[in-house]
Amino acid sequence: MSKIIASAAIRGAHKLVKNTEDTIEKAIGEKGKDFVFEFPDTAFYLPMIYAMTGFAVKTLADMKVAIGMAKEMLHPEPEEHLWKPYLGEALDSGMAMLFAEEIILALRYINGLEPAVDPETGYIYNGFITDTIQRNLGIQLVDGRMPGFAAIIGAAPDDDTAVKIVREIQEKNILTFLSGQARDKNGNLTNVTQQLLRKKVELGWDTYIVPLGPDTEHTLYALDWSVRASLIFGGKKPGDFKTHLKYTKDRVFAFALVLGELDDIKWSTGAGAINMGYPAVCDTDVPVIHPTGVCIYEEVDKEFDHNRIVQKAIEVRGLKVTVEKPPIPVSYGPAFEGERIRKEDMFIEFGGQRSPAFELVRTKELDEIEDGKVIIIGTDVEERYKKGGLMPLGVVVDVAGRKMQKDFESIIERKLHHNANEAQGLWHMGQRDIVWMRISNQAFKDGITLEHIGVIHNTMTHNRFKSIVDKVQVTIYVDEKDVLALQEEAKKAYKERDKRLGGMTDESVDTFYSCLLCQSFAPSHVCVISPERLGLCGAYNWLDTKAAFEIDPTGGNQPILKGEAIDSVKGRWTGVDDYLKANSAGKVETLNLYTIMDNPMTSCGCFECIISIIPEANGVMIVNRGFTGMTPAGMKFSTLAGSVGGGTQNPGFMGIGVNFITSKKFLFADGGIKRIVWMTKALKERIAEDFKKRAEEEGVPDLLDKIADETICEDSEKLLEFLTGVGHPALEMEPMF
Ligand code: SF4
Ligand code: ZN
Repeated sequence: MSKIIASAAIRGAHKLVKNTEDTIEKAIGEKGKDFVFEFPDTAFYLPMIYAMTGFAVKTLADMKVAIGMAKEMLHPEPEEHLWKPYLGEALDSGMAMLFAEEIILALRYINGLEPAVDPETGYIYNGFITDTIQRNLGIQLVDGRMPGFAAIIGAAPDDDTAVKIVREIQEKNILTFLSGQARDKNGNLTNVTQQLLRKKVELGWDTYIVPLGPDTEHTLYALDWSVRASLIFGGKKPGDFKTHLKYTKDRVFAFALVLGELDDIKWSTGAGAINMGYPAVCDTDVPVIHPTGVCIYEEVDKEFDHNRIVQKAIEVRGLKVTVEKPPIPVSYGPAFEGERIRKEDMFIEFGGQRSPAFELVRTKELDEIEDGKVIIIGTDVEERYKKGGLMPLGVVVDVAGRKMQKDFESIIERKLHHNANEAQGLWHMGQRDIVWMRISNQAFKDGITLEHIGVIHNTMTHNRFKSIVDKVQVTIYVDEKDVLALQEEAKKAYKERDKRLGGMTDESVDTFYSCLLCQSFAPSHVCVISPERLGLCGAYNWLDTKAAFEIDPTGGNQPILKGEAIDSVKGRWTGVDDYLKANSAGKVETLNLYTIMDNPMTSCGCFECIISIIPEANGVMIVNRGFTGMTPAGMKFSTLAGSVGGGTQNPGFMGIGVNFITSKKFLFADGGIKRIVWMTKALKERIAEDFKKRAEEEGVPDLLDKIADETICEDSEKLLEFLTGVGHPALEMEPMF
């Protein structure tokens, strides 16, 4: 590291560590040393300190110990140290800085100052990033939809430049965190959050722009989040700092854009980020650093041209960004999926129970359709569209291909939602004959026409399903009588499909599929996906993986020949075991698909729900991601999740996709759904309809009412009272173990 920067980084760290020490003392004076603190919804205490040192900070006294570690990192000569990584002087000071920042932010939470409120706009920043969000996004990271993260620190020279930079990042599907402040070209102190707010840019997780806070220290939240990927998905042990730093460098594709002038705090936070393998590109004349033989991999670069700075950062970090965009006059990409279009901003809408509408994908012969064609059928189409308001809409997407199968229709059809929604200014909800779509005034002004809807489906169906689809033709109907008539045809098709899928069982096929997508984060995890058990993230069922394999034979979904049944009750096959031995990095020898008690499926970290046994009740409880309350297992979701992930088998605990609950194979060897004694209310509501059918089949039609939820109890004692009161079947069943 060059001398100037190193000394700035070290100076910054010294300053903040001292400051933090004083603040801890003050807090101890006010609240006592045993005062307990937890960041919202995390199982990892102060995650950076926990990951690096293995020390769980739970109280103010613990914070004092942790800041002691930071101080020792700042000592120039290695003596007897509490904890000192020896990464080099400047880098150690960077790590010390991150410890201090983490504690400072914790103390601000204690004092009610976090999440920060923007003084200019009243905007409430995101603050600490929860484990739940990490898991929610896990799947997008592993399947490549989100190639990486950017942290923008400071302020652009003007508001328009801020918008331009952020839009460019959004189009590349990169998640952006905002923090810090700087002077704009007029010398006013501001930050990118304020600049975007002034330009009415929609902020938040849905649009991939997450303002963390107005200070440089707030950048820590993003680093804190990325180090948890190593704990959650990587299954790396707390305290093993070298492994964590290697993991973040190799697998978390993050970089920083530092806009505006730098100060000591920015330098030392930067040194901390460099430890994790995240380079920075600045728009000011910083001395550029080159690695100097130490075991570090830092990179700080500069780029004065704001038209090039994003591209530069992507190159420096070595991100692979492949964006396939249809030829339409608005921006396109998943970052635009989350936009809402309110009534005032709406130019025209279709469906949503206001006008008849549907979408249907049909398989055709190759010679029956013309590739790339969009046909619009209706009377006075253009005038009616230009008037805006409301219109009927039937979208028929005909596809043909040598490898196309009827089974793939539903998969292609499900993507129509994303196809449309990813266009800026288009909003889409639902599917089949309950679709609802809006086009914004702005998108209309930008030149979006009805034909573009067809163009989008055309391009994106090709892009997403390259090797199974050779030709795509879209027909759009806008006359009510046509839409109504075709809707009937569509309904028949939906029904046939459902019947065929509903009838498919694990016994009826000889091939299951693996999903290895999460191995980029959890190297030993394999999802085994059968017709009756979907992936634990809920995003992939058997048909999806089958289609994915056809689309990309060398991709993350591979066929698993079942082979001989070793135990058909527990769901164990020779072929599955062989596959796992070869593909789980030696971690899984054997698997039972239908039990939680004996070699159950492993979990990566992005499960929709966790099942945990409740021994006292002779049953299991199920809690969904996003539920932050206590459960009768004595742990919150976040704590449970902390012990389930990372690709290991944990008898008694398992991550699952929501739809598995109503499968006939759900805990089949353990007694099935009759074992469920507690389930969150949200889950109950979400699966009610299918669950009731299953309960009837099991001979307990009122089972759902006999299952407790958080409104009834949050501990096992009250749970038992309730179960006894209602006569829950689990109490009468054989002991679970
Ligand atoms: Fe990850 Fe399993 Fe989902 Fe595949 S199915 S993305 S491995 S959780
Ligand atoms: Zn996963």
